Amino acid sequence: MYGRHPAPARKACIVSEPVRVRFAPSPTGNLHIGGARTAIYNWAFARGHGGTFVLRIDDTDPERSTEQNTQAILRSLRWLGLDWDEGPEAGGSFGPYFQTQRSESYASALEKLKAAGHAYPCFCTSEELEAKRAVGRAKGGISGYDRTCRRLDAATVSARVAAGEPHVWRLAVPEDRGDVLFTDPIRGDMSFAAEALDDFVLVRSDGTPTYNYATVVDDAEMAITHIIRGDDHLSNTPRQILVFEALGLTPPTFAHLSMIWGADGKRLSKRHGATSVESYRDMGYLPEALLNYLGLLGWSMDGETTVFSAEELVHSFSLDRVSKNPAIFDEEKLDWLNGVYIRELDAAAFTDRMLLLLESEGLLSVAEAAGKREWLESLAPLVSERVKRLDEVVPMVRFLFGESVEIAEAARDKVLAKEGAGTALAAALDVLEAVEPFTHDAVEEALRTVPATTGLKPKVAFQAIRVAVTGTTVSPPLFESLELLGRDRTLARIRAAMPLAAR
Ligand code: GLU
Repeated sequence: MYGRHPAPARKACIVSEPVRVRFAPSPTGNLHIGGARTAIYNWAFARGHGGTFVLRIDDTDPERSTEQNTQAILRSLRWLGLDWDEGPEAGGSFGPYFQTQRSESYASALEKLKAAGHAYPCFCTSEELEAKRAVGRAKGGISGYDRTCRRLDAATVSARVAAGEPHVWRLAVPEDRGDVLFTDPIRGDMSFAAEALDDFVLVRSDGTPTYNYATVVDDAEMAITHIIRGDDHLSNTPRQILVFEALGLTPPTFAHLSMIWGADGKRLSKRHGATSVESYRDMGYLPEALLNYLGLLGWSMDGETTVFSAEELVHSFSLDRVSKNPAIFDEEKLDWLNGVYIRELDAAAFTDRMLLLLESEGLLSVAEAAGKREWLESLAPLVSERVKRLDEVVPMVRFLFGESVEIAEAARDKVLAKEGAGTALAAALDVLEAVEPFTHDAVEEALRTVPATTGLKPKVAFQAIRVAVTGTTVSPPLFESLELLGRDRTLARIRAAMPLAAR
């Protein structure tokens, strides 16, 4: 179904150098899957073109932005292996990289717009604006601002400003501007009707910049050449183009990524369960697998290749292979891919990961782990073959830690309560006592006699032994498990399970 193929030659795509792109998250929450994909595409685009990847924190919403969220975003990006050339903790000569520290830039750009006659103060109150909108709606026309304050004469404006009357600053969109057109490398030629673009607000009455204004000032000052972001911002793009024009600048290239949908065809959201990158980390996905999966979510290398490294992604990524259709988040495919990456880890690397999990579960201390390295490395391939997510590891190996084991109720009912289970355990005890050395081959040889001597089906006999020894019905292979457990614990557990087993 899925396969790994050699990376194809890089697609030809003419991009004028030097490329500067940015990822501009708002720290109003953790980094979620959609944001991570946007970051990955920007990063791959920058790296593939020898460009610069800028990280900017759009923290203008004082109520919802937190330092904690900013830290979580930085942590998530690093965990995915995305490094930024400029931004928080990296510095750079186009900073500061937090919007809350850029007030001077917004103020001086506003002065420039005012001087050129591209911005004007608007004194309309919210009640007045609502009334105007209602009239507009009743006429069936557009409900944008009717430009009342644009017609005020200079003396009136000065007097009202001098009197301290609250006002916002609006963009004076040229009356003869016409439709706003641009070419999106993903969606092709786009056109927005001029009538739909009113003189929108740049700066609020409390002096704070709106998103459409701040983002343009920043993108302009940071010399951003390509803006790659979600298509939830598509309707902002014509407005931002108008601000670039008012500042006398050529707008950058705008590329819009389609939304990510859940399996139900609705936009991926918290309703679909975990969506933050860190929750995927905690569920046991490897960063390489998540990066690979998100790389594929809306972009294809060649229509076939599904497994690729970050380097291969960088080498092949181009905007013309990004799909304009929504991408469906397919948890099963992600799990499959994660399993591929887990199986690619060698015993030492898998052991390192297993150790962290065992330590955090309190099953093994760092000191104990040091003496058991070899033992753990022989366990590693038995487990890595059988899991798709790292959070399956601890339940699978828990039986190896501690003297006795608690038998799960379901396993007891399903297996030990079955006729013959006790007979199998008794026969196993008989043959295992003499096994020396207690290797998996010798254990296997001994246990293979049990079905014959008891007349039980091998599956029934072995499953009873598995439940007695591991407490569950799912474990690494039986004979290897017993070797890792050792003879004493194996025999003690079988004895302890005998009273629970049906004869
Ligand atoms: N802070 C905005 C967001 O997170 C940035 C949008 C953009 O890329 O312009 O949606």
